Amino acid sequence: MPVAMDTLVSLSKRRGFVFQSSEIYGGTGSVWDYGPLGVELKQNIKRLWWRDFVQMRPDMVGLDAAILMHPMVWRASGHVEQFTDPMVDCRECQHRFRADHVDARPWLHFCPASKGNKFEIPGGEACPRCGARRTLCPDCGKGELTTARQFNLMFKTFMGPVEDDAAVTYLRPETAQAMFVNFENVLQSMRLKLPFGIAQAGRSFRNEITPGNFIFRTREFEQMEIEYFVNPHETVEGRPADEYWHDRWIADCMAWFRRYGLSEANLRLREHEKDELAHYAKRTLDIEYRFPIGWSELMGIANRTDFDLKQHAKFSGKTLTYFDEERKEHVVPYVIEPAAGVDRALLAFLVEAYQEEEVRGEKRVVLRFHPELAPVKVAVLPLLKKREEIVKTAHAIRSELAKHWRVVYDDTAAIGRLYRRQDEVGTPYCVTVDVQTVGDADKGEQGDQRVTIRDRDSMQQIRVPVRELVPVFQELLAGGDWATVAGRFGGPAAGAAG
Ligand code: ATP
Repeated sequence: MPVAMDTLVSLSKRRGFVFQSSEIYGGTGSVWDYGPLGVELKQNIKRLWWRDFVQMRPDMVGLDAAILMHPMVWRASGHVEQFTDPMVDCRECQHRFRADHVDARPWLHFCPASKGNKFEIPGGEACPRCGARRTLCPDCGKGELTTARQFNLMFKTFMGPVEDDAAVTYLRPETAQAMFVNFENVLQSMRLKLPFGIAQAGRSFRNEITPGNFIFRTREFEQMEIEYFVNPHETVEGRPADEYWHDRWIADCMAWFRRYGLSEANLRLREHEKDELAHYAKRTLDIEYRFPIGWSELMGIANRTDFDLKQHAKFSGKTLTYFDEERKEHVVPYVIEPAAGVDRALLAFLVEAYQEEEVRGEKRVVLRFHPELAPVKVAVLPLLKKREEIVKTAHAIRSELAKHWRVVYDDTAAIGRLYRRQDEVGTPYCVTVDVQTVGDADKGEQGDQRVTIRDRDSMQQIRVPVRELVPVFQELLAGGDWATVAGRFGGPAAGAAG
């Protein structure tokens, strides 16, 4: 049973992942702030994406371009003309809807077969009593909807002190265009050879008509985009280079989401039909995830051909080509674009990680994040907070481990409660310092300088020398196998799971 969105929204607020923006003023609709744990999770997603797709690859470089760009960029790209959604309004309640989404919404119906009683009917379905289908506003059930008109999704603003037409500019609706307009700069400064890619992660803005579903669709969000340039005259393994690389990127992106925890059963590919393809695309596939709202787009991977470079060459008057040494010709590269949303990725990882289970008759909520995604890697907990030596050792361990990872100290509850709190935010390991660790000076007892490591998923515990904590966590947090590590330290303590 997939977790309900409301459960995630409330957990996110309670445990510091995501807050509604400007909440003390009543909130800003569909705008969200990432709290102390949310920001860690989000940074981990972006860092892993950068590590795996930029740092590790010889054919990739990065970019961090400004959000405000020359307004001509958006004319050349087609956004001023075409980045629109069809919008309809209700003549009664004035609510606005995306015309192509309105049928999928549940609708309010005053049923003539039941003395005009009001019912909510699921999206796309007819009334089971009178058989009517929705024609009126889905929200108030009374108003007619206007005919659809195109609404441009770009946020407009003014550059400089004068608010006239010449000063109009836009908040970028995607990060991609900066990679195209910097194509020549990157190519020359880095002396690159095709195929190569430019990656960028950053904010984008879209004045969505119907944002919603928590952080799934918002007006301000973050994207992680790659523009991968290939020589259209080359073939790879007997296929045109653009088609070969398109399939490679689809496979690599799918593998990336699986590697960090999204299960096969909750992922699928959807190919865009010819009539839904964007004007620039030869072929596009979406990776879809089974969100609590149903199968929806997690990222898109498009073959944008040479459309963008040609458009920017035309509008700027500059040459945006690549010199193919072998064929002694100038070519306009084709581009493959894997475009992912950071917020949607975060939501998918949260959905997948959430589990409720019963442990000794009590409910345990646990976020089974991949250790590299987990916002906090280790929590250091003193078993007795009144024993100075225990507390001191726990603080010392925390500051040593914090040189490598996000590590917290907590002594504000009894140990069982502390474990549950860490489970609920997905901390993969807890370290507990107890009397055995530090000994008892009054009784002349030496400590054994060992601490308990408790594994979030199995709840098993092992005892490990303090000086070995860093190498042990280096192994475990990179995805190392718990059972193997536990075996090296004599296996989990019998009956100590908690
Ligand atoms: P949709 O069809 O859901 O509106 P899109 O096809 O317009 O999305 P793209 O332009 O392909 O989206 O953007 C790439 C990615 O950016 C999307 O797959 C998604 O993860 C993310 N994204 C796009 N719009 C939003 C938004 N309003 N809120 C959050 N993430 C978004």
